[in-house]
Amino acid sequence: MKEIAPLIINWYQENKRDLPWREDKNPYHIWISEIMLQQTRIEAVKKYYERFLKDLPTIVDLANVDEEKLLKLWEGLGYYSRARNLKKSAQIIVEKYQGKMPENYEELLKLPGIGEYTAGAIASIAFLERVPAVDGNVLRVISRVIGSKKDILLLETKQEITELLKEIIPVEADLFNEGLMEIGERICLPNAAPLCDKCPLCNHCIAKKEKLTNIIPVRIKKTKRKIEDKTIFILVYQDEIAILQRPATGLLANLYEFINIDGFMEEKDIKEQMQKWNLESQKITNLGRKKHIFTHITWEMQGYRIELKNKNDLFIWIKKDELDKTYALPTAFAKWKENIERTLFDL
Ligand code: SF4
Repeated sequence: MKEIAPLIINWYQENKRDLPWREDKNPYHIWISEIMLQQTRIEAVKKYYERFLKDLPTIVDLANVDEEKLLKLWEGLGYYSRARNLKKSAQIIVEKYQGKMPENYEELLKLPGIGEYTAGAIASIAFLERVPAVDGNVLRVISRVIGSKKDILLLETKQEITELLKEIIPVEADLFNEGLMEIGERICLPNAAPLCDKCPLCNHCIAKKEKLTNIIPVRIKKTKRKIEDKTIFILVYQDEIAILQRPATGLLANLYEFINIDGFMEEKDIKEQMQKWNLESQKITNLGRKKHIFTHITWEMQGYRIELKNKNDLFIWIKKDELDKTYALPTAFAKWKENIERTLFDL
């Protein structure tokens, strides 16, 4: 296994992509990019990353940002607890570490939202600490190289691979970790046949040699996502629309939402529902179904756009253009934004 380290580093030096967070070794920049990259594609992250650092260029700025602005900067990235944890960690860094990122793996791991992978990535890339950063890409590449048929979703498999990497990680820990991750992203592909002919590890890879790349990595999913049905109402009164702020705890806490109820409501029952909210409908448009998948829940949503003759004092009524400027709308609801304006079909 030791032989793979120089191969990974050489490949990385020759093939690495130019990415905004690779322009310097600023630990704050690396931290923000790593958190944004969890569950989000690199191309999509670039614009969020640049905007975030333009508005919050230092850890002190992040520690002092108000929550509305923070969530607005994060809007569209999803998993909003990540943004809140960034702020909490920034406050701790300001109070306990004089505004400078802690410089080693163990201290980084104590911060909210920084797990083993992120601590490993920051410690190795910014501070050259010889610690692995094991994400899904790394698990896949190493499982294939060693021909392991163990379930990579199990903690013990991750721990075994982490221990293995600890033994071989070289002084160039930054190049090694980044190289391994990039091979996973671009060569040893997750959802398509791996590009073994282009892989620097192909002469050392058991999965390649024994034709096991369609079996490894092994992933045994246990839990099925819960499905929740919802009806979403785009309530329009003149140039205003209705929204609400979600509760301070639970899924999508404190973010804004279009008015919605649990379950699918049929069109014939809408007028009655409007009356319960002290509203009178003028025109109802069935917007059809959309789906949003969270980690543990899937929302199946039925939408209606309803033009109203009046508004009530139960909801927050905002001008349509304020939604983009001021209110953080999670992706599950942002999917309905295109239905705020009348469609050609309606006219
Ligand atoms: S040789 Fe193929 S399967 Fe093995 S690590 Fe490289 S890309 Fe993945």
